[in-house]
Amino acid sequence: MNNQHSDAMIQISNLKKAFGEHVVLKDISIAVPRGSVVAMIGPSGSGKSTLLRCLNLLTVPDLGTVRIGERHFEFSGRKSRLPKDRELAAFRARTGMVFQHFNLFPHMTAVENVMEGMVTVLRTPKAEARAKAMALLQKVGLSDRADMYPQKLSGGQKQRIAIARALAMQPDVMLFDEATSALDPELVGEVLNVIRGLAADGMTMILVTHEIAFAREVADQVVFMRDGVVVEAGPPSQVIDNPREAATQAFLARFN
Ligand code: ADP
Ligand code: MG
Repeated sequence: MNNQHSDAMIQISNLKKAFGEHVVLKDISIAVPRGSVVAMIGPSGSGKSTLLRCLNLLTVPDLGTVRIGERHFEFSGRKSRLPKDRELAAFRARTGMVFQHFNLFPHMTAVENVMEGMVTVLRTPKAEARAKAMALLQKVGLSDRADMYPQKLSGGQKQRIAIARALAMQPDVMLFDEATSALDPELVGEVLNVIRGLAADGMTMILVTHEIAFAREVADQVVFMRDGVVVEAGPPSQVIDNPREAATQAFLARFN
């Protein structure tokens, strides 16, 4: 294990995960320096979502270590178990996750969706939570939609609210799992703009994405995964523009 990036905000070391006999993550090590952006690319089934889920312990790794900021978890075989509830909730709150499908609460307005975690998890007083939620809606360009229900909003608007909701927990890192894949093409740009803004603000992020041009633009590091291994990792100028590995070349050829 290399300690070269011990100052990293996210440190994944020798991570392994199997579902039954199917080994989905095979010894993954990735370091994400504070304030940097990693784009994770690779074919469907290569383990990208499983890796992100291991980072906030929605999935429990079998072996390896995960560190985010000061919090560190080590997993060692069959008895790998989740940390205690309170520790787990604290860990998850530091890790904002945005999925392909927005999972907004349908019976709550935009601003109520953003307030919910602040009120129930962080115990922020309602008036303060509302004010913070309004500021976050403004940040994602939706202050004029605060009182609307998700059903009345476009996919791009819903996804921006999901991002605001994740930011409301004041996470150390943001993890995006194909956040634009379910959107109509004309709505992708508004969500990428919000992610671009977060990168400019210095948010540490991992983006699983098929938007190769966006990965090139915004990522400090691109990680190409296939069959549960990191095939190639490095700056976009290497992995996207001059891939060394045949598998990376073959994958990228699909996007040309
Ligand atoms: P990706 O996000 O790169 O498409 P995933 O992490 O979703 O890949 O999946 C990697 C592999 O793990 C796939 O073969 C998938 O079927 C399998 N897998 C993912 N989650 C589970 C699960 N909960 N139970 C069993 N197999 C799973
Ligand atoms: Mg996936």
